[in-house]
Amino acid sequence: MKLYNLKDHNEQVSFAQAVKQGLGSQQGLFFPLELPEFELTDIDAMLEMDFVSRSSKILSAYIGDEIAAHQLAERVKNAFAFPAPVAKVSDDVACLELFHGPTLAFKDFGGRFMAQMLSYVSGADEQITILTATSGDTGAAVAHAFYGMENVRVVILYPQGKISPLQEKLFCTLGGNIETIAVEGDFDACQALVKQAFDDEELKKAIGLNSANSINISRLLAQICYYFEAVAQLPQEQRNQLVVSVPSGNFGDLTAGLLAKSLGLPIKRFIAATNANDTVPRFLGNGEWLPNATVATLSNAMDVSQPNNWPRVEELFRRKTWRLTDLVSGAVSDETTKATMRELAEIGYISEPHAAIAYRMLRDNLQEGEFGLFLGTAHPAKFKESVDEILGQELPLPKELAERAELPLLSHNMTADFAELRKFLLK
Ligand SMILES: *Cc1c(COP(=O)(O)O)cnc(C)c1O
Repeated sequence: MKLYNLKDHNEQVSFAQAVKQGLGSQQGLFFPLELPEFELTDIDAMLEMDFVSRSSKILSAYIGDEIAAHQLAERVKNAFAFPAPVAKVSDDVACLELFHGPTLAFKDFGGRFMAQMLSYVSGADEQITILTATSGDTGAAVAHAFYGMENVRVVILYPQGKISPLQEKLFCTLGGNIETIAVEGDFDACQALVKQAFDDEELKKAIGLNSANSINISRLLAQICYYFEAVAQLPQEQRNQLVVSVPSGNFGDLTAGLLAKSLGLPIKRFIAATNANDTVPRFLGNGEWLPNATVATLSNAMDVSQPNNWPRVEELFRRKTWRLTDLVSGAVSDETTKATMRELAEIGYISEPHAAIAYRMLRDNLQEGEFGLFLGTAHPAKFKESVDEILGQELPLPKELAERAELPLLSHNMTADFAELRKFLLK
């Protein structure tokens, strides 16, 4: 597989390099040089396959001969060790539930596949250290994805006292190759420490420093697979009338959906739903890219006003000669999000703020005869405090959270001091 840097098309790298590097020069994103397409008959046959076999075939179409088919299948099997069921919500709407993995959010799919690929391309005798800062969710997904992997040490920094106690339990109780540090400071201070570490060439070399960045191409490729899995679970008549609504923050999930369509998956149109951080819906409305300051909302994983995957979306539309005007996009306020969650609860489906936004946009756009699918990106219990309050009921904790809640925290404490972090990393 060859990929080019969107900021400099002459910079071309292999899949292995793109996975290791994350970004190209000038912070440019990598994008596939070839956009494979399956024949309609291939797609039909693939929809009959099981999740892991089908996903291996999809990933292999992009990655090519850089990884032998059986090796790739083995890695896919390790990564996708939990289901992505389609749950019926009403006669013409269903939710693709992507929250049945170890950290109860769709980020488990991309995170776990990236971990598999990073360890594969790094070679057996190469020691790597993954250093990352988190404000909550990403840290948990990264920690669980790399947990127990040989030759990989994971160090995660987070702001002490500023993430929810349950979130902290989810990734600071693992031990083994996962080390967590509660930093006296805010998220920005954690990010600044990580940045300092990556600027320190001597340190980088000594410990094989690597990032588990969210823009890594391996994550996007992994996410393509569950769009196929969704269609595979639908009856034929719904497959041909399918509209998919994606709750969007950094627009990685939407990019993956568009790549699935580009492979030939029959999806009539996509809806990109955002919260009040509405740079993209405004851009699609008036052609002006004018990010506002980020505002805090109920759907905090989507509080992004400069979505870093957007250049990939534009590039794909350009390459496929699709029209951006065919992409439906809109923003949903916190008030409407709450009302929508209650509406969903009344028809028997408990949801959380992110998915509810996608459902709202879908309901408002779906036409007669169409079938709508929205992405359930996180388990409602992950946002238990707000969900309980909005719905006026007590959600039970799923076992992944309940089990961890009883375990002792294993985090180290540290001031926001790079010298101290450096010493810790070199020990
Ligand atoms: C990360 C996240 C999103 C946004 O996904 P993007 O790929 O960044 O658009 C939506 N919902 C939840 C629960 C998330 O964690």
